[in-house]
Formats: sequence, structure tokens, C-alpha cells
Amino acid sequence: MRSRRAPATQDSVDLGGILCWLQREQRQSLRLRFDAAGKLTANCPIHLPIPILMELLQERLPWILAQRQRIQSQALGQGSRVPYLGGLLTLQILEAGGPTLNRSGNTLWMTGKLSPEQRQRLLQRWLRQELKALLQGLLAHWQARLQVPVTHWGIRQMRTRWGSCNVVKKRLSFASSLIAEPHSSIEYVVVHELMHLREPGHTPRFYALVEQCLPDWQERERDLGRRKRKSPQKKGASQ
Ligand SMILES: [Zn+2]
Repeated sequence: MRSRRAPATQDSVDLGGILCWLQREQRQSLRLRFDAAGKLTANCPIHLPIPILMELLQERLPWILAQRQRIQSQALGQGSRVPYLGGLLTLQILEAGGPTLNRSGNTLWMTGKLSPEQRQRLLQRWLRQELKALLQGLLAHWQARLQVPVTHWGIRQMRTRWGSCNVVKKRLSFASSLIAEPHSSIEYVVVHELMHLREPGHTPRFYALVEQCLPDWQERERDLGRRKRKSPQKKGASQ
């Protein structure tokens, strides 16, 4: 269902103080992307020589600098709002002790003397753990109910989808950005992807089966990405 990554070694190049990670792949062109923590990755053709790569990166330096500045200006600070399960958590930072992150009600407590990148990384790791625990519970519940086998599931950065299902390999993937969505909508995505193991296509039968499990699935689906649609907030960027 998606392009295979070549098992190439990952290396990096220095762009005048900006580290750019290289991901060698079976591809024709160079693709640059920043993740939410400000890490720059270049997906590039396997055999592209470094001098040519450096030339291409130099050409795109204005874009790289602009994106970096945009991400830095979104740096996490005291009172930053963090989308979480359809609501917003407020970040409280205590610059002491070791790096920790804990939620208490609608407040996220972060400790440690951390750089903006480290703060982002700590937050992203925490959000991913939260999503993982939540998905684990939902998958266990619905897998038992639907009696469908899943060989593997994981969380990935997806730009255009909330989840995907490889029917042949019985593998499910979920978008890391799901953690910002309401619990009911995350549950819908889980049921939707699991249901593909029973009915691969989006046929009337597929939706009838989904409706048996979640009669209000349409509402749950409508709520997906609603916050983002109201206030566009792009995570990371790519070119
Ligand atoms: Zn589907």
C-alpha cells in the first residue's frame, strides 16, 4: 500500500549549522521535510553523489531557513496549548530536574532544562505513548469482538490519512496525529481499519458492518480533523 523504504544506512550532512539527515531510497528526486521537532530529513535517490546533493540543498536553502524559523517560532513555552483527544492541554514548564512530562487534568507538566528541540521531542514521544496505549486497548476490544486477525500494527506520520490497512499482510497503521482527535473518532478509525479485514473495499456492505458496531460512525468521522479545519495548524513541513 505504500512505497518500501530501502534498508539504506542513514547519514547526515551539515548545512552551515543545520543538520540534514539523509534517507536513501528508491526514488528519482530529492524530498525535504521537517518534523514537528525541527529535524530536517532529505529523502534522496540511493546513488545521488554527495556533491550534487549539497548543490541541490544549497538551492533550497531559502526554503529550509524559512521553515526552520517558522518551527522555532512555534517553540513550546509556558502556557503553550497542546491538542489532545479533541481538547487542549496547557503546558507548564519547570526548568529544573530531569526531563519528565506528566499530565494532570488539562495541564501538562514538563520538567528539565531543555532546548526547544528537546521539548518538542519529549512532547512528541509522550503523545505517541499515549496514542499507543489508547490504540492497544481499542484494538484488543474490537479485535475480540470482530474476530479478525492482525499480525502487526503501528503508528506512523501520515500526511493524508488517519489509518491504513494492508489486507493481505493483515497490518494496520495509524496516523500519529490521531492523538489530537476525540476518543470516539479514534475508535471509529480503529473499527474502520479492522473492518477492512472483513471487507476490503468501501462497499455498502462495509459501511453496514461498521454501522452495526458504531451506529453513530458518521458523526465520529465528521469530527475527525475538525479542530484543524477550524484553525489551520500545520505540523512540520515538506518540499
Ligand atoms: Zn477505508
